[in-house]
Amino acid sequence: MQKEKLFGKTLNELVAVTKRVSLPGFAALQIADWLYKKEISTIDEMTNLSKKMREVLSNDYELGLSAPVSEKESPDGTKKYLYNVLNNKFIETAFIPDDDRATICVSSQAGCKMGCIFCMTGRQGFQGNLSSNEILNQFRSLPEFNRLTNMVFMGMGEPLDNIPEVLKTLEILTSEWGYGWSPTRITVSTVGLKNSISEFLEKSRCHLAVSLHSPFDEERRDLMPIQRTNTIKEVLDIIRNFDFNSQRRVSFEYILFKGMNDTPAHIKELARILNGIKCRINIIRFHKIPDSPYSSPDMDYTIRFKEALNAKGILTTIRASRGEDIGAACGLLTTLEQNKTRKP
Ligand code: SF4
Repeated sequence: MQKEKLFGKTLNELVAVTKRVSLPGFAALQIADWLYKKEISTIDEMTNLSKKMREVLSNDYELGLSAPVSEKESPDGTKKYLYNVLNNKFIETAFIPDDDRATICVSSQAGCKMGCIFCMTGRQGFQGNLSSNEILNQFRSLPEFNRLTNMVFMGMGEPLDNIPEVLKTLEILTSEWGYGWSPTRITVSTVGLKNSISEFLEKSRCHLAVSLHSPFDEERRDLMPIQRTNTIKEVLDIIRNFDFNSQRRVSFEYILFKGMNDTPAHIKELARILNGIKCRINIIRFHKIPDSPYSSPDMDYTIRFKEALNAKGILTTIRASRGEDIGAACGLLTTLEQNKTRKP
């Protein structure tokens, strides 16, 4: 029988574990300390628990860490790791060093249901939700774990479509008994699931990033099927009505597609729909995926687009393109890996 994994459990869940195996209640905090503050890899290393306690725990539980199965490194320092999850499915995790920052980009699902047409992960379809163990393991088992300063949920999957496990992960990352990270070091990105956005805003203090990509309903619907049931207007209304504290940030991700969403009309409409929201726009250059008709405008044009938005009063930045040579588009590497494993 497979043992349950301790790593990725919240303090409340660890209390339940101690009850189940008849350990004293205070052992939950001790276990959390070993799991999230000390870098142990076996239950036997929890040396302030008696040998007997460790044996009892080990009968039903294991630590539950697993190293990445492969890695690729770009000359710009970006690395992509593949992790094996959900019984032989693959997910991608990126490590992005940048001056004094080092960001991990984690996946929250294997594949994705959202079907955004510019996305390789979307083409894979949905293969399953990751557990908080599998999300947090990407962070803890990353070879650069000790260098990390920031985390973004911008890898495979829609984080708010797996909100219970994502919220558990955020709780572990930001609690005193967990990693004790400031929530302002973490950004969760979403296509805009209206019900889950409200829950995320209420239950977490991390930054929010919304994939916008077009201010026009029909065009956004063509790019992102979610617009049919969760319109950007509904999402913006929720954001507009939420009381953000001064530390918490809302940003909008905007992949610039040449000749499509990069016109003066788009700039005007973006300024109109974002009016009254304290936010920034991150322009992202499109990472080419196979058989896609889309491309990015050149850098000069992209800079002019950014400056036009800044002139309208919207703080806009261009996200540096990283790791192009190692399949920067999310989902490319796992698609290759899956094709490999499917071959006879
Ligand atoms: S862009 Fe994100 S939400 Fe859309 S299909 Fe890809 S992984 Fe899913």
